[in-house]
Amino acid sequence: MRSSRKPVRRCHACLLNLGDRCWLFPHPRGQWQRGRWCRGFGNEERYREFRDWQKEPTVKSRKELRRDFFRAGKKTRRRWKRPVRGR
Ligand code: SF4
Repeated sequence: MRSSRKPVRRCHACLLNLGDRCWLFPHPRGQWQRGRWCRGFGNEERYREFRDWQKEPTVKSRKELRRDFFRAGKKTRRRWKRPVRGR
């Protein structure tokens, strides 16, 4: 079994589907195996927890702050120019 974190096709309409991963389960594929239905799909209690989680203020970790800084720096980076003398 492939242990991918990506949601499967049946997760398409689920609110907990974050695109590259599931908010609730580490292995979404396992939730749908052998004809089972995922316990998180359409579960209003889980959806409410997810909405509450979304409302929480986001605090970035040091690693995320550093990553954002360097990503922003790459876009605006310019070549250094030697100052012109005699003007
Ligand atoms: S909760 Fe279930 S249906 Fe929803 S994204 Fe996760 S695995 Fe898929």
